[in-house]
Amino acid sequence: MVPLTNQTWRQHSACTGVDPDIFYPVSDEEAEVAKAICSHCPVRQPCLEYALTTRERDGVWGGATERERRRILRQRRKSA
Ligand code: SF4
Repeated sequence: MVPLTNQTWRQHSACTGVDPDIFYPVSDEEAEVAKAICSHCPVRQPCLEYALTTRERDGVWGGATERERRRILRQRRKSA
């Protein structure tokens, strides 16, 4: 797990300089553009873990929408 104080991964994000609105789509369908960027991001995993840990409610993080992150958290709770 990435410590919350360690956010050096942000320096390597593929979304640096990209319009942030892309990462806050109004529907899951509109999230595809952001997810495509995340798919080749070198820090996808720490980004996702950060969002899961901080319970980020909005936006696409680590290639996952808010709905998908809730699903991941449910699956982790079941397998814990
Ligand atoms: S995984 Fe996506 S949201 Fe996270 S840093 Fe990379 S491009 Fe940005």
